[in-house]
This record gives sequence, C-alpha cells and structure tokens, in this order.
Amino acid sequence: MNIATSKELFERAQDYIPGGVNSPVRAFKAVGGDPIFFAKAEGAYMYDEDGNAYLDLINSWGPMILGHANKQVEEAIFKAVIGSPSFGAPSRMEVELAELITEMVPSIEKVRMVNSGTEATMSAIRLARGFTKRDKVLKFEGCYHGHGDSFLIAAGSGAATMGIPNSPGVTEGTAKDTLLAPFNDLEKVKEVTASNKGEIAAIIIEPVPGNMGCVLPNSGFLEGLRSLCDEEGIVLIFDEVMSGFRLAKGGAQEVYGIKPDLTTLGKIIGGGMPVGAYGGRKDIMDFVSPQGPVYQAGTLSGNPVAMAAGYAQLSYLNENPEVYTDLEKTTKQILEGYQKVLKKHKLNYTMNQIGSMISLFFTDQKVFDFETAKSCDTELFGKYFRFNLENGVYLPPSQFETWFISTCIGGEEVQKIIQTFDQFLKQSQG
Ligand SMILES: *Cc1c(COP(=O)(O)O)cnc(C)c1O
Repeated sequence: MNIATSKELFERAQDYIPGGVNSPVRAFKAVGGDPIFFAKAEGAYMYDEDGNAYLDLINSWGPMILGHANKQVEEAIFKAVIGSPSFGAPSRMEVELAELITEMVPSIEKVRMVNSGTEATMSAIRLARGFTKRDKVLKFEGCYHGHGDSFLIAAGSGAATMGIPNSPGVTEGTAKDTLLAPFNDLEKVKEVTASNKGEIAAIIIEPVPGNMGCVLPNSGFLEGLRSLCDEEGIVLIFDEVMSGFRLAKGGAQEVYGIKPDLTTLGKIIGGGMPVGAYGGRKDIMDFVSPQGPVYQAGTLSGNPVAMAAGYAQLSYLNENPEVYTDLEKTTKQILEGYQKVLKKHKLNYTMNQIGSMISLFFTDQKVFDFETAKSCDTELFGKYFRFNLENGVYLPPSQFETWFISTCIGGEEVQKIIQTFDQFLKQSQG
C-alpha cells in the first residue's frame, strides 16, 4: 500500500502542529506507524491522499452513525451555509433541535447547545456545583469526559492511550476536588460518598464506557448510583457524548431505564459538525445564565450550519427506529464472526458488545473496569491494528477505544472484517 503522500504531509505537519495532529490519538503513537491523511469519505469507506480505500470502523469517533457523506445531512448543511455560516444571534433551527432532543431524551427538559463534548461536561459540572453549592465531583477510573481540568484524573481514551491519565498542568487544587472510584464498584462509591458527606456536587459517569474500550455496567450499578444520588442530594450526570443517540434514540439511559439529572451530549448530535449539549431537569437548567446565575456562553454556540446538520441526522434517527435494530444486528454478526475465528485459533480473548459499540480485548480476563482493561496485551493490539490498516480496515488506533459501527456497514464489509481477523491470527501464530 502506497502512503507516500500521508507520510509527506505528516512530516510537514510535525513542523507546525504539536505531534503533527490536532488530537493525540490520531498520531498512532500507541500502535506504531504513521497516521493516514484523508481526502474524502463516502458510506462505509474513507479514501486517503494516495487514493487508498479503508473500511471505516471509527466513523469520526461516532458522529457518522449514518456513514460518511449522508445525503440528507449534506443537503441540510448546504442549505444552511447559503443562509449564512453564522449569525451569532438566535435562529429557528436551535429551537427545533432543542425540541427534538427533549422528545428523544425524556430526562432532558431543557438543553443548552455548546461546541464540543468537552464544553458540555465542563459546563455541566459547573452547573451542578452552582446548583448544589458544593465543590467536589466524583468520576470513574478509565472514563473520559473530554479534556477539562477536573476530568484529567485517571482519564480514559487518548489520556490512557498516551499513558498520561493525570495530565501535567492540572493544579493540585483542581485535582483534590475530583474523587475517584472504579467503574462497577458501588461499595467504593458509597465509601467515598460517606467520607465526603455533603461535599459532592455531582457524580459523572459514562453509563456505558467506550473510552477504556467498551465496558458494560453490571446489573444494579447504575440503579445504585441513582438511589445514592437521591439520598445524598448529588446531581447524577450521565455523560452520553458517545452513547447518546447511538445505543438508542434516548441513549444508554433509555436502554437501562434510568433518569439522570443532567445529560451531556456530543458526537452524533452534530451530524459531523462541532456540536455538544448539556441538558436535564428544568429546575437545574434554570440555574444557567441568563435565566440563572451560573455563567456559560459561546460565540458560535447554536451555529446555524451545525444545528441544521444535527437536526437532519437526529430527525432521521428519530423517524427510523429500525436503524438501532439493524446496527445491533450488524454488530452481533461481527461479534459472532470474531468469536468463531477465536475458537478456530483456540484463543479466548474477551469481547464486550452492546448495540453498535464493540471491543476486542487481548486478554482472557473479563473486562469490567479500568484495571481489567489495562490487563490487555497492548503490543499485540498494535500488531493487530497495523495488520488491519495494511489490509484496508481502519480500526480505532488504541486498545482503549470502542469501534463505532455505521448503518453503511453491510454483509460484504462484515465478511471483510472477519476474514482480516482470521488472516491476522493465522500469520501471528504461524
Ligand atoms: C468524546 C467524548 C467526550 C469529549 O468530546 P469532545 O467533543 O471530543 O470534546 C466527552 N465524553 C465522552 C464520553 C466522550 O466519548
């Protein structure tokens, strides 16, 4: 495979952009090799600067759930751009998107638009602190909530991949207000809550983490958090930046039947444009400026082009609920195909899957939290990643990420994914 242009662009990029990329995981540091530079994408495939095609299992880290260059979303963007790329003032599409979100995610009574998932989670904890008049926040090891200071403590995703879960530059003062517990460990959460009684503003969690690979909540865990938050007057925040509109139109909270107080959204919500949002209980959301005292603002928030793209994608998902059963079916086919291949090679690696989120962990142990996720053979993951890439299958470049299946992945793609895995195991064992 000729990737000369990507190599050349990466060299130039490194002179002017830190590490040559605008987001760390893209640099392929954890898996080896150089990143690929893309020129266009359509449906299930992305095409690089040298014209190579890749079957895409990242889908822009989630947003492209309907595949690349979806016609409905594209048309909405074109139409909005002609109106003007930005007003910096209210417009119709903000109202319509807010109405649609509250319809799809019933725990959200009011919602504020921002420009990224990071902004959404940062704003949500500020709001929880302002509302409860408490300072501390509890998060879970291996969960990723964007790059806000309070969250770069035992953080998942790129922070875990780069081996810097606790980033330099986060002050001691900030770090001491972030409390930690292992995912799925309700007893530990109760302990931490008891020893910080009356001081915790919020518990923030990815209800289905995708940022330490895909990990599932044990039965009773999310329910337990809900009751604990009710008892202690703690704001329960579901960070559904990844799982929102992916696991169901109402996100993980619909799947597990639990109502958080606040929800953060991103990724799919913008149809590929930079959008985030936070919303939830009306009495809490009314604390946000200008209705309430907690300040939060954005020059480009509610941008008409971004709102139009998000509205087009979300309304499609809302009107076509079979999307979710189809996505799950495709993902299950991949899961079963992989499991067959593992059996054939007498291997017992762990796989976690729910809806269109799926991860293969190079370990025989069950993976249910960050500790168990870290037991994986990341070097073997690197080989597996590079083999797939060389064979035109573009996987997330880290053990600590989930795959994101799109509706454009069909039978032919599923076969290719499974065959490539079989070939990888054949050559790595031979
Ligand atoms: C991606 C992600 C974020 C951060 O969103 P950005 O748009 O990258 O800032 C936050 N929380 C979760 C769960 C995510 O997956």
